[in-house]
Amino acid sequence: MAGIVYLVGAGPGAPDLITIRGAEVLARADIVFYDALVHPETVALAGCARKVPVGKRCGGIVTDQRFINRSLVEASLQYRIVVRLKGGDPMLFGRVQEEITALEQHGVPYEIVPGVTAALAASAELGIPLTQRGLSRSVTFATPRMGVGQKPTGWVRGISATDTLALYMSLGNAVELSATLQAHGLPAATPAAIVANTSLPTRRHIRTTLAELAQARDWEVEGPAILLVGAAFREKTNAKNAGAKGDAFCKDGFEDSLSVRLA
Ligand code: SAH
Repeated sequence: MAGIVYLVGAGPGAPDLITIRGAEVLARADIVFYDALVHPETVALAGCARKVPVGKRCGGIVTDQRFINRSLVEASLQYRIVVRLKGGDPMLFGRVQEEITALEQHGVPYEIVPGVTAALAASAELGIPLTQRGLSRSVTFATPRMGVGQKPTGWVRGISATDTLALYMSLGNAVELSATLQAHGLPAATPAAIVANTSLPTRRHIRTTLAELAQARDWEVEGPAILLVGAAFREKTNAKNAGAKGDAFCKDGFEDSLSVRLA
């Protein structure tokens, strides 16, 4: 049987932030390989398809990428519609190139369904655009994280020339990150926002600065988090937030963004 593989973006977390196309493909799927960050309700959109978890976060057992590549190819021989469901958008920090290469090498047809990436969901939730007229005209999506055995890339090159940074997988070593960004020309007072669990009820927003970011460990951020850096994230002065910086977070980030909007 010649199946097709869909590489589908599940969106940032909330099950209703998948695209209609993604949901339709899932509803037709015969087998789904899904990432650890994908919400169970999103996986459930696949109805009675076979559901195979691949990947666990944070030091857990990580399914070997080569195993996933092989599984997709093999599944395409047994099933008509195979879905590889990935968090956010599959084309950003999703290791999707390895899967594409494997599928192409074996002549397996595939299609990519985009998704809402974490940075865009975080920006929406904060109510702060990544680009703003007169303030920010450029955005860089980057990660300081390197996989095992990877060669260092110059990820930090050009950072100081970008107005807004969206840094994925970046809070593991906030002390080093804060120092690296400052060493590459970003002022210590550059505003930053940490957004954890964006789009989910457990979301959390922390407004801070590059210098204060070095204390991030003390804030005990849990779950996946994205770091947004740039002038756009400067806190507007209002009664609630004035003077409060590193510790100015609220468990359900709504309060924070609401107070800014009402100011
Ligand atoms: N392809 C995904 C990114 C995968 S890398 C996307 O487009 O969003 C995993 C990283 O994404 C996490 O370390 C974190 O930086 C970010 N991330 C994923 N889900 C998130 C969420 N719900 N809230 C905040 N950041 C998230």
